[in-house]
Amino acid sequence: MTASTHLVPQVSGPVLDGADPRVAVEVAAFNTTHTARPAVVVGATGTADVVAAVRWATANGLRVAVQSTGHGLVSDLAGTVLVTTHRMSAVAVDPAARTARVGAGVRWAQVIEAAAPFGLAPLSGSASGVGVVGYTLGGGLGPLARRHGFAADHVRSVELVTADGEVRHVDAISDPDLFWALRGGSGNFGIVTELEFDLVPVARLYGGGIFFPGAVAADVLHAYRTWVATLPEETTTSVALLRLPPLPTLPEPLRGQFVVHLRVAHLGPAEEGAALLAPMRAVAPALMDLVTDMPFAAVDSIHMDPTDPMPTWDRGTTLRELPAEAVDELLAIAGPDAVVPLIMVELRQLGGALGRPAAVPNAVAGRDAAFSVWALGPTAGPLAETMPAITQSVVDRMAPWAARGALLNFLGAAGPERVARLWGDADRERLLAVRDRLDPGRVLAPGLALTR
Ligand SMILES: Cc1cc2nc3c(=O)[nH]c(=O)nc-3n(C[C@H](O)[C@H](O)[C@H](O)COP(=O)(O)OP(=O)(O)OC[C@H]3O[C@@H](n4cnc5c(N)ncnc54)[C@H](O)[C@@H]3O)c2cc1C
Repeated sequence: MTASTHLVPQVSGPVLDGADPRVAVEVAAFNTTHTARPAVVVGATGTADVVAAVRWATANGLRVAVQSTGHGLVSDLAGTVLVTTHRMSAVAVDPAARTARVGAGVRWAQVIEAAAPFGLAPLSGSASGVGVVGYTLGGGLGPLARRHGFAADHVRSVELVTADGEVRHVDAISDPDLFWALRGGSGNFGIVTELEFDLVPVARLYGGGIFFPGAVAADVLHAYRTWVATLPEETTTSVALLRLPPLPTLPEPLRGQFVVHLRVAHLGPAEEGAALLAPMRAVAPALMDLVTDMPFAAVDSIHMDPTDPMPTWDRGTTLRELPAEAVDELLAIAGPDAVVPLIMVELRQLGGALGRPAAVPNAVAGRDAAFSVWALGPTAGPLAETMPAITQSVVDRMAPWAARGALLNFLGAAGPERVARLWGDADRERLLAVRDRLDPGRVLAPGLALTR
């Protein structure tokens, strides 16, 4: 009898053996660099299905992985029981409490849509197709971040299934250590089935992007460096060096071009935002200036991230400071004169609320950092071999200015040594103690696993 035959009576969703041709659709991921090759897939419809999957996996000596959207897929998950969560798509907004409660498979777009009628917004990121749970467990850095902090800072409670197959409801009172670890320690402690978190009263903002021609990349990046030091916490920004493909779906001035993309989100009146942005607008004429007063629901237009699945490899680091020499190095690596197949090298300013502990402290790493650097390139064809080293070289060359901690969500397929070094010794030991208490047999196979 096949593995799925044993599980089917216990699970409401589909149970597929690894060789089933329907697996490819069930596990289709945003990042297509890796193809998931689990032993069994459980398409969970609710908490009971997750419990059954975990108990069956442990009884059969298999490890358990979980996937929502596959934006963070970093391996082929070979031999695992893979729980897919996209059917767990319930969203409930409580406008009086200003909270949302979501199922494990919810994407940010669903929360944004459900919260907008009440003038509320979640602390989502650059792309609303990303999953709420994976993003939030890894910290969660979005366009409101300097004012409101990481998404993980606003989690109120978590329902999860731990490696022993038990359902736990965790908040700051019920299990303070696990609640601390879950918010920043990613999927190392169980499979989250529901998440409850705060929404913020943001209906509109002054935001969007400005595309500058590649020829002025140095002027824009050096101006950005000094400009961001003047910004209030209400303003969250980033700037990206982009090598755009010649796709017909891109606006004509950007198609096939090297451009610099300044992204802005200002929580204040449009006139105030325009005054703050004036020094950057004065740097050079823009190819396109899309910064405007906009509803929060249009937040994806700030970063204009791709929405279709594609094969990419990414690596990130953080900087404690951004002196002129660091900007010059970034331009040498990925500026208009560099011959490098990277799609994007992005700088995000951190600081503000990101630099302060959450009201209920959590395990989010990287609070000491002033900037995040994220390099991303395609892995199509022969680039599959070279892209890991190319993206790593960006991290290595920024090392003279590196901060101590880094952001888990921007590590990419980093090895266990890098994951371990995200935290200082005390926090790492605390995380490992929680992990050892809840998953002594290492049943869970998280994308980014904790090690000593
Ligand atoms: C285009 C793009 C834009 C991005 N923008 C941002 C951004 O602005 N800010 C930011 O902070 N990050 C950003 N990220 C990174 C993103 O937050 C991480 O990749 C995150 O892990 C994605 O979560 P997911 O659930 O969508 O992906 P998945 O690949 O489905 O999950 C990734 C990992 O999250 C964990 N996980 C997922 N679901 C569960 C669960 N139910 N229980 C326990 N663990 C779980 C698992 O370890 C899993 O391996 C971006 C990524 C991409 C590709």
